[in-house]
Amino acid sequence: MAKSKDTVALVCSIAELSAIFEESHSLDEFLCAVVRTVATHMRADVCSVYLFDDRHEELVLRATQGLNPASVGTVTLKVGEGLCGMAIKELRPIREAVASKSPFFKQVPGSFEEQYEAFLVVPILRGLKPVGVLVVQDHQTDYFTRDDARALQAIASQLASTVANAKLLLSLHEIQKGEAPCANCVQGLFRGHAVSSGVAHGPASVWDPGHRGGQRLEIPADAGGGVVAFRDALRRSELQLVALQRQTEASLGHEVAMIFDAQQLLLRDEKIEGEMRRRIEAGEDAGAVIVAVFNDYIQTFAASSMEMLREKVHDLKDLGHRMLQNLSPADEDARADYSGHIVISAGLLPSDVVKLVAQRAGGLVMVGGGVNSHASILARALGIPLVIIEDEDVLRIEEETVVLLDGIEGRLLVNPDQAFVDSYRSLLDHAGEDPAAPAAPGLTATRDGTRITLQANINLMGEVALAWQQGAEGIGLYRSEFPFLIRNDFPSEEEQLRIYRSIIDLAEGREVVLRTLDIGADKILSYMPAWNEANPALGLRSIRFSLKNRPIFAQQLRAMLRAGEGQSLKIMFPLISSLEELHAARGCVESAIQALCDEGLACNRNPQLGIMIESPAAVELAAALARECDFFSIGTNDLVQYLLAVDRTNEHVVDLYIDHHPVVLRSIKKVIDAAGAAGIPLSVCGEMAANERLLPVLLGMGLRCLSIEPRSVAAVQTAIMQIDLAQAETQAAAILQSDEIGRTAELLEQ
Ligand code: PEP
Ligand code: MG
Repeated sequence: MAKSKDTVALVCSIAELSAIFEESHSLDEFLCAVVRTVATHMRADVCSVYLFDDRHEELVLRATQGLNPASVGTVTLKVGEGLCGMAIKELRPIREAVASKSPFFKQVPGSFEEQYEAFLVVPILRGLKPVGVLVVQDHQTDYFTRDDARALQAIASQLASTVANAKLLLSLHEIQKGEAPCANCVQGLFRGHAVSSGVAHGPASVWDPGHRGGQRLEIPADAGGGVVAFRDALRRSELQLVALQRQTEASLGHEVAMIFDAQQLLLRDEKIEGEMRRRIEAGEDAGAVIVAVFNDYIQTFAASSMEMLREKVHDLKDLGHRMLQNLSPADEDARADYSGHIVISAGLLPSDVVKLVAQRAGGLVMVGGGVNSHASILARALGIPLVIIEDEDVLRIEEETVVLLDGIEGRLLVNPDQAFVDSYRSLLDHAGEDPAAPAAPGLTATRDGTRITLQANINLMGEVALAWQQGAEGIGLYRSEFPFLIRNDFPSEEEQLRIYRSIIDLAEGREVVLRTLDIGADKILSYMPAWNEANPALGLRSIRFSLKNRPIFAQQLRAMLRAGEGQSLKIMFPLISSLEELHAARGCVESAIQALCDEGLACNRNPQLGIMIESPAAVELAAALARECDFFSIGTNDLVQYLLAVDRTNEHVVDLYIDHHPVVLRSIKKVIDAAGAAGIPLSVCGEMAANERLLPVLLGMGLRCLSIEPRSVAAVQTAIMQIDLAQAETQAAAILQSDEIGRTAELLEQ
């Protein structure tokens, strides 16, 4: 039955509401009254107000009658996003008889709006400046008339100045308080980029090196104890660290087990331990002394000009917590780890990621950093959800605030409503589980039967088992720098030998490609002397580092050659950009073989030598390089960054990092042709190889081998099995003709 609306009375009562607001000074209360009144007079099921957040340029749901109240403060829409975003973008009302049929419609998950088809939104404007939008929705299709739209516009224009003034007043109070409040930090939503898939729900732990206070320990209410309690706490902490080391070795491999070395060293340090002991023996309270001494060191380390010391602040803080928890004998289980915590950090090193996984963190949030940075790659490899958020306010979330991290959509919900958490229930229940094994182990082929080889990119030994379980046929890229990155010092030749031998042994005869050190850029070794470069991605990285540091390179090559004795051994050089670099690297291999033979050490005297194609120079020289190499692998992560001059670690240009850019695809084609002409094997080992949208183009251009993260193998295999190669070739040929990114994107959708 048609409902009768009362639009004239409505316009009047809004005028009354303005008066109420002037007395109440509460924007939220006022808006609640507005939506209630509008919904009643219009006999609409739903009325909502979104306010425009000038800083983030997005609409935020501020009041609603009819939608899920938990959505208030959490639902945001960018300009142009959904019907509300379009109304702000085009500064006009939008009326839809059946909203879900509109190309602009975007259903807001968790808002329960799916039942409401009729939709009317008007912008609230002050001059041309957006203040927000006013929306009504109803379950009856085609419910709102042109007259309703006019009435709603009249209301919106009355609201505009009141709401704009209230917003101004609010920001004035914020300035007076010294620091803008962060409403989202209490309850709300932060949007970001999904980097590593998965979801996690738990307390937040914030690491903010710029905010020293956040790094300090605090005296817990139950702190206390004397000399005996202190000694027990020391002993317990030491035993726990040893156990953690062992568990880490078992789950992630022996090369990462050293990551808790620093904490053990700090614990045994006579100065730190001695100072605490002396003060406690002199009668001071153990809890207070631990806090005071650790805070002193934390402050000194944090203020140091040495990167290596600054990095140890987290270790000190972790250790301090562990000691404090172990002071209480009742708490035998104290682990002082990050179990289930979502760690929010202004800068995560690859070693931090590994440590946090070992300490059972549930998820990670990084402020800044690129989707293809190495911390990101490692998070994906280790299966821990990671979202990159640009808004630094996220660092102001209080410790232990409950958050929900959505690594699928790329968002962080602070203090989410139970209804929201419940909508994630099945994902949360399966969080942390290994991905499914492939449909057809070992035999990947396109729909028409063309065989495609799927290999795995391995960073840590612990990932190899998953690679085989997922159906990978070999290791197309072993990133040998990871053991260097997560330690406190250079691994010796013998240690490296042990690592490379383990990788080869774990492969049980499958192909293994060992890449030589690729450090520099975002893979900095804190234990190397000062190494500050203005443009590290264009600096002393990768093969350039190895060729400038010959003893380190020689040591690594020796370890690889010794590990490959009696096996077929493939060594790959990263970021080669000239024939001369290839010759120099080959020369180093020859010298290493010679030296090993002179010393009577068994080694592989005939390794296959390949290179990564990662620079525009290498693409241009591909034909010449192919004639002098045994194999190629295209490193698209770097190739895209260098072809497009877009830093892969810079979140401000993430939208320009476009792997379907015509230049990227043409370059790959050029390399495929060069490898084909020289008759050498070729693979792609960048993240692009796991991009299901681009797979048909890659195969259509002639690629037959992909090396991807173990977790992606099964999904990529399934995607390949759907591809018809003839169709893929036609699509690739059309795409290679395109000069425009937009046109390429259109062709990819066909
Ligand atoms: C690449 O650049 O695509 C690559 C695989 O190497 P990395 O990501 O380690 O730089
Ligand atoms: Mg690379």
